[in-house]
Formats: sequence, structure tokens, C-alpha cells
Amino acid sequence: MKKIDYPHFRTALLEWFNTYQREMPWRNTGDAYRIWVSEVMLQQTQVKKVMEYYQKFIDRFPTVQHLAEAELQTVLKLWEGLGYYTRARNLHKAAQIIVKELDGEIPDDYAAFRKLPGVGDYSAAAVQSIAFNAPYAAVDGNVKRVLARLFYMKIPINDASATRQFQEKADAFLAQDAPGNFNQAMMELGATVCRPQSPTCIVCPVHSFCQAFQTARQDEVPVRRKAKPIPEYHLAVGVIHKVGAAGVLAESAEEPAGEILITQRPLDGLLGGLWEFPGGRLAEGETAEEACRRNIAETVNLAVDNLTYLTRVRHAFTHFKIVVDVFQCEYLAGEVALNGPINAKWIRFEEIEQYPFPRSNHKFIPMLNKRNG
Ligand code: SF4
Repeated sequence: MKKIDYPHFRTALLEWFNTYQREMPWRNTGDAYRIWVSEVMLQQTQVKKVMEYYQKFIDRFPTVQHLAEAELQTVLKLWEGLGYYTRARNLHKAAQIIVKELDGEIPDDYAAFRKLPGVGDYSAAAVQSIAFNAPYAAVDGNVKRVLARLFYMKIPINDASATRQFQEKADAFLAQDAPGNFNQAMMELGATVCRPQSPTCIVCPVHSFCQAFQTARQDEVPVRRKAKPIPEYHLAVGVIHKVGAAGVLAESAEEPAGEILITQRPLDGLLGGLWEFPGGRLAEGETAEEACRRNIAETVNLAVDNLTYLTRVRHAFTHFKIVVDVFQCEYLAGEVALNGPINAKWIRFEEIEQYPFPRSNHKFIPMLNKRNG
């Protein structure tokens, strides 16, 4: 087996990247803002998905100034469906800091950039190297997998204690004269050749340096620490319809339609800033209908009646799953008072489109009765 000869390794990898890299709308630009947006979107999200969002986002917010001036809700609406909404909130907050405190210039200094909200070691290294050619090795999941195979590392790649070891390996590899391309090449290799299943080693530009390949043990690495079982929570939510101006529920689309209540989640935390229908988890021994009434009373202080079961939807987050029973119901009494949500609005059904909702809500919104709300 050939011992890793770093200069030859770098040359082989960079030549391969120059020839075979995929066309991406965020490549071949030196615009730090666009590179940054792409790196934020690509975290924990597949390229194919990011492709659906990136250009729309850039068209709407072509510069950091445009993003800073935007309403958070407009940003979240464009991010709707991409998931991990903290990324969007942090990007927006960071853009405002850049405009207010840094003369609108994205820092070309690793430490200064790293201080911005949402910027971690990976994104700081990726943006600084790609946009400014700064010598920092970016280590994401793809890079860890490539390194684990190159060195036949048996340390679990999802173990926090392994981060330093992978970073040290990556630092040693980095092509100091072309860090941006080198980082992208390592990630591209992981995404297209050194894939999790069935890596195509025969066409890999660095297979002569790879310990796993040379000993036919590619399938043994990387190893992962066994994940804990993911809990599942049962929730009940209610779409509350309020009567129309005539004082009765509308009987047809022509009659005055009523409104439905939506609430906004706190800005910090899961799905922060998104809108949803009021509800919450089932308590021990409670039915979904009882939980729906109770949670509505507790979170928005309203009494409801005539609950009709609509559907059940399921959704998986990174660390837990939810199963949600959805009811339609009628407003009975009370003034909205919030306990949990930060905002609530009675809206007409056709206004739903203006608000960003979590994906789990989009699974049942098309099924809602449009007549009465
Ligand atoms: Fe990955 Fe195979 Fe290349 Fe090794 S030779 S880096 S296992 S694709």
C-alpha cells in the first residue's frame, strides 16, 4: 500500500475535481454572501432539495443588505419546507449584524465570521476558504466518511469526541494554496464517489492512497455509535372556525366566510417563528379530542365545540417523531390570551398562503374545510 503522500494526493484530488465537479448555482462565484447562503442551506440537507430553494432565495435577497432589511416572516416563508428553521433565523440575524455593525461587509476573518449567529466551525471554514481562500479545513459528514476510509479509522463518526481527530486529519491534508477548491473536492468526493453505500472506488482519484480500499474493507468504515431509540409523541390540534358576520357558520362558498385561528411559535427553539394551529400533547389517559379541547383552552384561552375528526398526520424530526390527530371545531367562547405562542391571528382561509407553516401542517391544510374559514 502506498503511504499517503500529501502533495500527490492533493494534485490527484484537485485534478479530478476540476474535471468532474457537478454544476451548482453557488459554484464559480467569489460572492461570500451567496457562498454563505449555500453552505447554510446545505447543512443536513441534500443538494437536490437545496437546488429547489437556493435560486429563489437569492433572487429575493440578492445581497446581505436585502436579507437584513427583510421581515423575518418573509425569510421563513421562503425557507418553508427546507427544515431546520433556526438556520434561517440565524442567517437573518447575522445579516442584520453585518449591516448594522460591520459596514455591510461579510468578515474575511475567520474569528470575526465565526462569532456571527449560527456560524460554527464547519461553516466558518467552508465560507472563509471558498470565498476568501483562507486555509481552514472544512469537515462535514462527507469529509469524515472519506477520512475514515482513507485512514481506516474505526472511531464512530457521530461521536462528538471524534471531531478533533477528524479535524486534525483534515488540517494535515488541506492544500494551503487552494483551500476552497480542496474543501469542495473532499466534499464532492464524499457525495459522488465515496458514498455511504457502495463507494465506486475503481473510479476514485485517490484509491491508491486509501487504506480501506487497499485492504478491501470499505464496507467496514465509517462506524457509527448506535443511536438511541427515537421517542414518538402524540399530539392533538384544532382548526378553530369562527362564525361569519351573519352569526352562523357559512353554508356555501357564497355566504360570508368565517375565520380560522393560527398561532405563532416562539422565535427560539424548534420551528421558531412558524405558524400553526393550536394544540399540544396528550396527557396520560386522555383521548385526542379531550387533549385538543384542553390544549386550546390552555394555550389560547378559548372554548370550542362540535369537534370533527379530520385526519392523522405523522412527521419525523431529528430526535423524535410526532403523530398528530387533527380536528376541526367551532369557536364557542373566550377571548384569545396566549400561553406559549407569541402571537395569534384570526385569518381567512385563503390567507394561509401568506404564513410559513411547518411541514406537518401542510400535510393536512389541503384537506381543510374552506367554507367556514
Ligand atoms: Fe472512498 Fe473508495 Fe476512494 Fe477509498 S477508494 S476514498 S473508500 S471511494
